[in-house]
Amino acid sequence: MKQQIHIIGSGFSSLAASCYLAKEGFQVTVLEKNSTLGGRARQFKRDGFTFDIGPSWYWMPDVFERFFGDFGQKPSDFYHLDRLDPAYEVYFGESSSITIPGRLEEIFDIFEKEEPGSSVHLKKFIDSAKANYDTAILDLVYKPGISPLELVTPTTIARANQFLSTIRKEVRRKIKNPKLISILEFPVLFLGAKPSNTPAFYNFMNYADFGLGTWHPKGGMYMVVEAMVALAKKLGVDFKTDANVTKINTDANKKVTSLTVNGEEVPTEIVLSGADYHHTETLLDKPLRQYSESYWDKKIFAPSSLLFWVGIDKKLKNVKHHTLFFDSDFDEHAKDIYDNARWPDDPLFYASFTSITDPTSAPEGKEAAFFLIPLAPALEDTEEMREKYFDMIMTRFEKLTKQEVKKHILFKKSYCVNDFVKDYNSYKGNAYGMANTLLQTAFLRPKIKSKKVKNLYFTGQLTVPGPGVPPSLISGKIASELIAKHQK
Ligand SMILES: Cc1cc2nc3c(=O)[nH]c(=O)nc-3n(C[C@H](O)[C@H](O)[C@H](O)COP(=O)(O)OP(=O)(O)OC[C@H]3O[C@@H](n4cnc5c(N)ncnc54)[C@H](O)[C@@H]3O)c2cc1C
Repeated sequence: MKQQIHIIGSGFSSLAASCYLAKEGFQVTVLEKNSTLGGRARQFKRDGFTFDIGPSWYWMPDVFERFFGDFGQKPSDFYHLDRLDPAYEVYFGESSSITIPGRLEEIFDIFEKEEPGSSVHLKKFIDSAKANYDTAILDLVYKPGISPLELVTPTTIARANQFLSTIRKEVRRKIKNPKLISILEFPVLFLGAKPSNTPAFYNFMNYADFGLGTWHPKGGMYMVVEAMVALAKKLGVDFKTDANVTKINTDANKKVTSLTVNGEEVPTEIVLSGADYHHTETLLDKPLRQYSESYWDKKIFAPSSLLFWVGIDKKLKNVKHHTLFFDSDFDEHAKDIYDNARWPDDPLFYASFTSITDPTSAPEGKEAAFFLIPLAPALEDTEEMREKYFDMIMTRFEKLTKQEVKKHILFKKSYCVNDFVKDYNSYKGNAYGMANTLLQTAFLRPKIKSKKVKNLYFTGQLTVPGPGVPPSLISGKIASELIAKHQK
């Protein structure tokens, strides 16, 4: 008889783990509280428009190749990928924007034009970023985060200074142009923390950005979810949607015996939770929780977000598939996210218009628009605030890109802190987990294996290696390897 394992949640980490565990010979059932799979990467469709409701940047294509490769497959067996060229555009003010091309050589030219001499520094910076990427992605991030010794390798010893310096310091050491600084500091925002609080070693995100490029799966990021679900089903994984887990039941030996799902007891032998870590622990009796409320409260969480999906009745001009609006003060906005926890006065924002490169996402002649404002978690989220900020960014958007947009809106749907809590049981409504600061990296993150419950494991963006789709795939692999090692 196969050993039974139940996975809570169907985000990328759970989907990845389900494939690895089924391949290892476990009988795997995925329990997802929502009616569709994919966790934060679900899809929203309306009137011929299709939107990804979570991730939109497909970075680190090698991690996806490695995942599918573990099953003798390739991403192209499931979805079509395009490398975006240009990769993205960044606005710094009216008539002031920089477009980042898809190729590194052209990016050097852009830097040189903005700040003579900067391309030489950029080249050195990207060389070091590539070396860090190779160290991190080929080795470090696949470690289970059990011991500090995992981080001790000849390469990391040689690069120890990069764990003590920050991205902010490294970027500013040679590059002086504020626009170029913003462009080089932006990729670490994916890790959920300020550049001033992120180790310089994480400049491997700059290699991911400039070196490996920005890709788009035709049909959107949801195609990756569909691919992983198809693979998991082929491997024998059973999926149950609308399956809300409300209790993890244990015996006197501190072993999970069953889960309460929609009020019914479902016996199980092993549990892996890909739901937010804090929430999963609340499903246990108090003495079996590893981390106190004050532990969680002291952690630096990745931002929450105010999101809008908007159908527009015309094609837009002066924007790219990915467009960033850095025309306001990043440091002030960052303070409102990390230090003061308040609604920002003048927020930066990000927009995506997938229909510019992917005609499947909007009816002909129309544009599918997605807007994102990063916010502090746990902010008071009201309809009035959402409307106020939508109006604020639309006014700026029209001015910066020199076109009328508001009167061309067919519909809009918003999403914010309260939705993250309601839909994903997200701690304080965080959008993408716990930040990768120095003190929240590797063995310092919440553990994959429960220290108190024998057959309970965790995966996902709050564990190792951290936030983002590629790290979630890696997390699923790490957790399943640990389970196979302990439980078989
Ligand atoms: C707006 C946004 C933009 C992003 N942009 C990017 C990007 O461009 N590129 C990138 O790489 N990453 C991006 N990310 C981050 C990335 O999406 C996440 O890191 C990743 O999807 C997290 O996957 P996960 O497996 O940790 O969990 P999740 O996706 O959070 O999945 C957890 C699942 O558990 C379910 N669940 C919770 N409680 C229960 C319960 N009690 N019973 C049953 N099920 C339960 C939830 O419903 C959910 O489906 C973005 C995230 C957001 C929100």
